[in-house]
Amino acid sequence: MTFQLSEEQIAVRDAAREFAQNELLPGVIERDEHQIFPHEQIKKLGELGFLGMMVDPKYGGSGMDTISYVLAMEEISKIDASASVCMSVNNSLFCWGVEKYGTEEQKQKWLVPVAKGEKLGAFALSEPEAGSDATSQKTVAEDKGDHYLLNGTKNWITNGGNASHYIVIAQTHPELTHKGINVLLVEKGMPGFVVGKKENKLGIRASDTHSLMFQDVKVPKENRIGADGFGFKFAMETLNGGRIGIAAQALGIASGAYELSLQYSKERKAFGKEISQHQAIQFKLADMEVSIEAARLLCLKAAWLKDQGLDYAKASAIAKLYASQTAMDTTIEAVQIHGGYGYVKEFHVERLMRDAKITQIYEGTSEIQRIVIAREILK
Ligand SMILES: Cc1cc2nc3c(=O)[nH]c(=O)nc-3n(C[C@H](O)[C@H](O)[C@H](O)COP(=O)(O)OP(=O)(O)OC[C@H]3O[C@@H](n4cnc5c(N)ncnc54)[C@H](O)[C@@H]3O)c2cc1C
Repeated sequence: MTFQLSEEQIAVRDAAREFAQNELLPGVIERDEHQIFPHEQIKKLGELGFLGMMVDPKYGGSGMDTISYVLAMEEISKIDASASVCMSVNNSLFCWGVEKYGTEEQKQKWLVPVAKGEKLGAFALSEPEAGSDATSQKTVAEDKGDHYLLNGTKNWITNGGNASHYIVIAQTHPELTHKGINVLLVEKGMPGFVVGKKENKLGIRASDTHSLMFQDVKVPKENRIGADGFGFKFAMETLNGGRIGIAAQALGIASGAYELSLQYSKERKAFGKEISQHQAIQFKLADMEVSIEAARLLCLKAAWLKDQGLDYAKASAIAKLYASQTAMDTTIEAVQIHGGYGYVKEFHVERLMRDAKITQIYEGTSEIQRIVIAREILK
């Protein structure tokens, strides 16, 4: 076992850090306040190869490992979690599944432009009445011979407005419950496909979360990924990997808040000395450091297992559960260390606190992560 990163991994981390400081930090407060999607910044992330990080270069990707992805996600999330969720969905929820299970034709048409960052991808599983219980899909893909007729509504879809390529999960054989679910590739502009309203959110406000409506959308059969009924397994496998990205996002939110707090505690004076010299503040910093280090190791372990081709379902759930709690705890204490200044926008930590909360909800709530972990240890 070695805890040493390779030169390539360090270079990726440094490039992501530099990008976040130079390109994402300017304007991050305004984008959050006014819910402005970071179009220019996402375009540049694509040009740098961060939107198809683990995709084979022959399909337009960067051919990097999952460890590099975790390192990059941490750095981007320290500064702008709205940008990092877009990156995470593109990499983990769109590219991964198309590369792993798509046909050569599907990869050429759907994967290449998304991995290159020329188009954005989205993953549409959740519905108004199907979130944690993803088996109760109401969106229907009726088999019409050479095509499916897609009807239904998806909720909370990240990149919903700006994507052009969508992975959509829908029920074809309700009598087979989750074994009747299919996964379809859907393009913006298909007749009957309408992007609904943009959500006004607590955090990750610059990200683009929409409902999607499908009314008699004709989706050709060749747009189905995998065999008939493969959709639910596809979605669950996709989320196992996605959780590594969200765990790394949570880690980045926590470490960003910690770095700001450390710096602030050395500058702010109270009772004649820097607040970092008060033991109550030192203990907060020590607790932050401990949880962040543990979260980082859990993220890297899950990534390493994935890179080795080993089972990572339990590890990714553990990483997400722990890192998201760390993000919440750390950002709350970061606001406390900043005192009144923590409560206003200029100091960034209030935004990080709002952004932290979503990491305990999407790609499986913390309760669902516990169910996944318990299922794995009891099997
Ligand atoms: C900003 C944002 C972006 C999102 N992006 C996407 C996306 O790109 N694609 C997508 O498909 N979805 C996306 N989602 C949806 C997200 O994954 C769901 O909101 C999440 O899975 C929870 O589902 P729900 O909201 O229906 O809550 P519910 O499932 O209704 O859960 C409500 C509460 O009940 C708990 N609960 C439910 N079942 C159990 C159980 N068996 N045991 C114990 N507790 C339980 C939950 O943990 C939660 O606390 C996004 C959501 C948000 C807010």
